[in-house]
Amino acid sequence: MKFNSKLIHGGISEDATTGAVSMPIYRASTFHQKVVGGTPEWEYSRSGNPTRNALESLVADLEQGIAGFAFASGSAAIHATFSMYSAGDHIIVGNDVYGGTFRLINKVLKRFGLEFTVVDMQDLSAVEKAVQDNTVAIYFETPTNPLLQIADIEEISKIAKQHHLQTIVDNTFATPYNQNPLALGADVVVHSATKYLGGHSDLVAGLAITNDEQIAEELAFLQNSIGSVLGPDDSWLLQRGIKTLGARMRVHHENTEAIVNLLKNDSRVAKIYYPGDPDFAGYEVAKKQMKHFGAMISFELQPGLDPKQFIENLDMISLAESLGGIESLIEIPAIMTHGAIPRELRLKKGIQDELIRLSVGIEDEEDLIADVKKGLASLSNQTVNN
Ligand SMILES: *Cc1c(COP(=O)(O)O)cnc(C)c1O
Repeated sequence: MKFNSKLIHGGISEDATTGAVSMPIYRASTFHQKVVGGTPEWEYSRSGNPTRNALESLVADLEQGIAGFAFASGSAAIHATFSMYSAGDHIIVGNDVYGGTFRLINKVLKRFGLEFTVVDMQDLSAVEKAVQDNTVAIYFETPTNPLLQIADIEEISKIAKQHHLQTIVDNTFATPYNQNPLALGADVVVHSATKYLGGHSDLVAGLAITNDEQIAEELAFLQNSIGSVLGPDDSWLLQRGIKTLGARMRVHHENTEAIVNLLKNDSRVAKIYYPGDPDFAGYEVAKKQMKHFGAMISFELQPGLDPKQFIENLDMISLAESLGGIESLIEIPAIMTHGAIPRELRLKKGIQDELIRLSVGIEDEEDLIADVKKGLASLSNQTVNN
C-alpha cells in the first residue's frame, strides 16, 4: 500500500468486532478477565487500550517501524524515550531543538545524572568528535525549530552505528509524509503529534516509534511504568487527523512555495530560512532525504523594520505559538516559543530577536498572499537603514 492509502487503511483502521470504519473509542479503564491468572489481550488501559493500540499500530506503519507508542504530549514521548538511559550516560544533542526539549534536558534530565553535549548537527565531524566512552545516543531534529537547519540522518546514523549508539530523530517538522528517519538508519522517531499529525490545533499528543525489538520492549515498559499515556478520546482524534495528512500536506506545500516566492522577491525581507530554497545551506541534504520541504518558513526583515508591526498588521494569519495546524500561525521565537533560552545563547545559535516563524496553513493561497503583502506594506513608512 502506498503512503496516502496507508494513512487511511494502515495499521488497525477498523474495528475487528463490528467492522466500523472508524475505530470505536474504548473508554474503559479495565477489562473483564474470563479466568484467574490468564493472559488476556486487554487488562488495564495504561498498559494497553484498543483505541490507543489502533493508533499505535497505524503510526508504526507510517514510520516504517515495528512498534509505536502514544503519549499525552510530544514532551512526554521525548521524556519516556530519554528514560531508556541511566545516570552517567552521555547523549549528543542537536544545538537547535524545541525550547521545551531544551528545558527538559537542562532542568529535569540533568538532575537525574544524564549528561549532554550540544552539537551543530550540520557538522558531521563535530558530531563524531563529541562521542565519549559513555555516549549512548544521538538526539536531533531535522528540520530544526526555528532555523530549519537540516541534519543528514543517514550520515549521522552511520556515525552512531560505528560507535554503537542509538539515533533518535524528532520528526515533528517533516512528518512521515516527507521523511522516514527509520528507513534512513535511525532507531527511534519521536513526534509532537500536536502539530501536523493531529493537524487541527485541537489536540496535544506525542509518539515514539522504533524498528528495533529490544527498544520496542523497553519503550513499552517505560510507557507503562511512567504512565504518560494518551487517553482513548485523544487517540481516536489523532487517528482521525492522521487520515487527512497527505491531503493537508499537499496544500500546505503549495501555499508555502507561493509565500516563499513572495518573500524572496521582496526587498524588505533580509533573509529566508526554508529547506526548499536552493540558496539555503541545507537544501542538498533536504532534497536527498525529504519528499518535500515542509511548510515551515522562518525569515528576517531588513534591519530597522519592526517584526511586531508586520505581525500586528496581518488580518488572517494568527499570532500564536504551535504549528502544523490547518490555520496559518505566526510568531516571534525570541519572545515566544524560544523565550526560555537565555538571549546570549539564543543569539549564539543564530536566533535573532527579529526572526519571524511562519507555519503555513491550508487557507486559499490568494488570501494568504494578500495578508503577507498587507503586513509588508505596513512597513513601508519605516526607514530601512542598511
Ligand atoms: C511542539 C514540539 C515538541 C513538544 O511537543 P508537545 O506536544 O508540545 O509536548 C517537541 N518537538 C518539536 C519539534 C515540537 O515542535
